[in-house]
Formats: sequence, C-alpha cells, structure tokens
Amino acid sequence: RTKGFQRGSYTIFTREMGVEIRERAMLMQHLHKAFDAERLYLMYQPQIELATRRVVGFEALLRWRTDEGKMISPTEFIPLAEHSGLIISLGAWVLRTSCFTMRQLLDDGHKLDRIGVNVSAIQFRQPDFMKLVESALRDSGLDPHYLELEITESVTMSGAADFEETLDKMKSLGIQIAIDDFGTGFSSLSYLDKLPVDRLKIDRAFVNQIDSQGGPRIAELITQLGKKLGLKVIAEGIETQAHYDALLRMHCDEGQGFLIARPMMENAIGAWLGEWK
Ligand code: C2E
Ligand code: MG
Ligand code: MG
Ligand code: MG
Repeated sequence: RTKGFQRGSYTIFTREMGVEIRERAMLMQHLHKAFDAERLYLMYQPQIELATRRVVGFEALLRWRTDEGKMISPTEFIPLAEHSGLIISLGAWVLRTSCFTMRQLLDDGHKLDRIGVNVSAIQFRQPDFMKLVESALRDSGLDPHYLELEITESVTMSGAADFEETLDKMKSLGIQIAIDDFGTGFSSLSYLDKLPVDRLKIDRAFVNQIDSQGGPRIAELITQLGKKLGLKVIAEGIETQAHYDALLRMHCDEGQGFLIARPMMENAIGAWLGEWK
C-alpha cells in the first residue's frame, strides 16, 4: 500500500499515502471514543500445564467491537494506542480489570496460579508504572504472586538501567514476568541470563512451524534455552493435537491455543473450568 516509497528515489507523499494517514487518524479518533464508551473489553484465554492438563491461569486479551459490530484486532489498534498515548490509560484499565477478574476467580474458589497481562513497552517505561501496578493490586486485593506481566523484547531494550530496577522491584513484590513473543524481537540473548524473568513465551509463529517436516525447530530451541536458564516455557497458538504432542515431547511446560480454548468472556470462565475438569 505504501507504494510511494522507492529505493534510491525521494520519498514522495502520494495521494494513496494521504488516504492511509487519514484512515489511521480516523481510526484513532474512533479508538478514543470506543474507550470512553466502554466498547473495549477483555477476553481471557486459558493456559494449561501440558503434561497434566491442569489450568494454570488465563491471559487477558483486549477486544474492540465498533458501533457497527466490526471487530478490530489488537495487533491493529494497540500500535495506534501506543502512537497516540492512549495506551497509558488503556493499559492501566487493562491491568486493574485483570487484577479484579483474577481476584474474583480466586474468591469463587477456582484454583489458579496466575493472570497474564500484556504490557506495552511505552507503558512499562512510564515513571509511575510501578505505582500503577501496586495500586491495581492493592485496590483489587490480589496477591502479587498471582500477577504475571507479559513484556516483549522491545521492553528489555529500552533505557536499560531503570528497566532492570523496575523488574527487580516487581520481583521483590512477587510479581511474575514473562517474555512474550520470544524470538521475534531483536534483543541480544545476553540479557536473559541476568534479568529476573520467570517464563518465556514461544510465539505462535514458531508453534505453527512444528508441522512442516524438516522445517526450522525454533520452538524446540527456545524450550531448551529456557530450560538451560531455569525458566518456564509456555507455547502460544497450539491449534492441533500434533502441536500439543510435539511440544510435550520437547518438554515445553505449558501452552495455550485454540485446541485448548479460544479467549472467552469473564462470565464464561466458571462453566469452562467446570467442563475442562
Ligand atoms: P500476544 O500477547 O502474543 O497474544 C497471543 C495472541 O495469539 C492473541 O491474539 C490470541 O488470541 C492469539 N491466539 C491464541 N491462541 C491462538 C491459536 O491457537 N491460533 C491463533 N491463530 N491465534 C491464537 P490477539 O488477542 O489478537 O492479540 C494480539 C496481540 O495484541 C497480543 O499478542 C498482544 O501483543 C496484543 N495485545 C492484546 N491485548 C493486549 C493488551 O491488553 N495490552 C497490550 N499492550 N497488548 C495487547
Ligand atoms: Mg501476550
Ligand atoms: Mg505472545
Ligand atoms: Mg504472539
């Protein structure tokens, strides 16, 4: 779509690109309105221990349904929210809501280890991010051990010094940290050894590759790397029994994916857990 860019020539602002920018600006406006009108909501996808099938927790995933009933993917609107700064308030809302949901699930008697919350790099870099996390935990009454923050490699590359400090602080509270989409970023491996991280999440692109005979075995490599570093490994995007079996053979600890369950509304969790048993 961005045909205006060409190697070795000047970047020309074409009419086509203008349309795209206007579209994005409009989408951004809609996004702000949607947040105000509570058209953004969370769904929760179960995560299980592969060997025992025990449900260990849920990952909170944002959803946006427009007034016209169209679903817009977070891979589309999260970057927009990051660009406009909305991610700060949106992310705070996600964090609080997730903590309250988890507290409720525990109060309802469900035995779960954690709730996974995606945190954008921009959000993580906010000076008061730690305070935000603390207040979400305090207000919901959720024990910090039940909270897992999913950060991406891009977080680990930003302003190194106070990033490590923030992580250490979180660890001292008992909060768990997962590196999301591991292997898709560009960070060096050397940081992994020293960062207080609990879990690596294998991106679903790598899980998808498992089918292809003789294809790259990134999922297995990541699992072995995780084991060597004493980290737990979880695979996302498990869609087939073949994926499941292969991951089990690799000794991957945990997984989530459509084979197990699609993301669900909060009020469907209780029934799903009952059936899964
Ligand atoms: P992610 O954190 O890596 O989340 C996993 C994505 O894989 C989710 O997509 C989930 O619905 C999808 N998925 C899980 N199992 C399967 C499967 O078996 N097959 C397929 N095809 N997909 C599967 P989703 O919900 O569209 O979210 C996409 C990304 O948007 C997330 O990737 C995350 O990076 C971002 N995101 C979602 N919610 C939030 C949020 O609250 N805050 C932030 N900062 N980012 C979020
Ligand atoms: Mg995630
Ligand atoms: Mg992921
Ligand atoms: Mg992913």
